[in-house]
Amino acid sequence: MPAARYTEHAARSALYHSAAPPQSGWTLNPYTGCSHRCTFCYVRAFEVRAGRPSDGRYGQDVRVKVGLVEQLRRELARGKGEGGVTIGTATDPYQPAEGRYRLTRECIRALGEARVPISIITRGPLVVRDLDVLAEAAARTRVLVNVSIPTVDEALWRATEPGTAPPRSRLRAVRMLADAGIETNVALAPLLPDVSDTAESVRAVSEAVRAAGASGIWICTLSLRPGVREHFMGEFARTHPGLVPMYERLYGRPYLQRDEDVRRVSAARREAEAAGLVDRGDATIRVPPPPPALTLFDVGPPAAPAVRSSRRLAGGSY
Ligand code: SF4
Repeated sequence: MPAARYTEHAARSALYHSAAPPQSGWTLNPYTGCSHRCTFCYVRAFEVRAGRPSDGRYGQDVRVKVGLVEQLRRELARGKGEGGVTIGTATDPYQPAEGRYRLTRECIRALGEARVPISIITRGPLVVRDLDVLAEAAARTRVLVNVSIPTVDEALWRATEPGTAPPRSRLRAVRMLADAGIETNVALAPLLPDVSDTAESVRAVSEAVRAAGASGIWICTLSLRPGVREHFMGEFARTHPGLVPMYERLYGRPYLQRDEDVRRVSAARREAEAAGLVDRGDATIRVPPPPPALTLFDVGPPAAPAVRSSRRLAGGSY
C-alpha cells in the first residue's frame, strides 16, 4: 500500500451544520481524505461527486486544514457549535496525520474551553494520546467517544480496513478511555450481511467490548452508494466470491430493504444486549433539555420502544 501524501490547505471554515441524521448538528473534520482506506468507506461516494478518485487511490491524498483551531475559536466566539459538535463525520480525526498535526487534540481543547458538548467518531487508538484534554473537556461539558469496531476477526479486519489499527488495539483504547472515566460507545459499523452481522461475530465483538469496559454501542449496516459500491464489491469478490450473488441481490439499491435492515439490526442488538450492552442508537451527543414541570395531567403510559432501522444512519459516519 503506497504511503499517503499530505498537503496543507488553509481552513476556510471549521464547523459545518448538517440536517441529516445520525450526526445532525454541527460537524468538524480536521482532514479531508482518510488514509485508513476502508473498503466500505461511505466517503468514496462524496469523492465521486467532488470529482476525486474513489477507487484504490482513495486515501492516498490527505488534505490537512491548517489554521483550523484558530478558525474554530473564531466561529465558537460567534456562537457556532451551540448544542454540540461531532468530530469525525467525514474522515477519521485520529488517522496517522493527527500524530503530527494535532488538530483534533487542539480542537477538543477549544471546544472544551467553550463548554460545547463533543462527540468523536474514530477507528484510531491514537485517541488515547488525548486522554488529558478529553478529561479536561469532560470536566466542563459532555464528552462522548465512539470507537468503531465492527469485527474482531483479524482476517476480515485486514481485508476491509487495510489502513486501520487492529481491533485488539482499539479494544485497548476502549479500556483506557473507560478507565479514565470518558463516556465511550463502540460502533458496530458497518455490519456486513452474513459476514459480520452473524450471531457469532456480533457476540464475539460484544463480549470483547463489554470486557473492555464499554457499556454502549450503536449499530448500522453496510450501504453501497455509487462510488462505494464499485470499490467494495471489487475487493469483496476477492475475499468472499461465494457471497457476491447474494450481495448483488441485497444491494440492488444503495441500502438494504427496510424490513431486511430492521431484521438484521434487531438480531445484532439482541446479541449485544445479551452481552450486557445498551444500544444508544447513534453517535449524536444529546444535551437533554431541562425537564418541564409535570402536572398530574401530564403523566401518561410509557412510550413503546421504537423499531429502528439503520437506514436512518445513512449519510453519516461509520
Ligand atoms: S470508514 Fe472512517 S476510518 Fe474508514 S476510511 Fe472511511 S473515514 Fe476513514
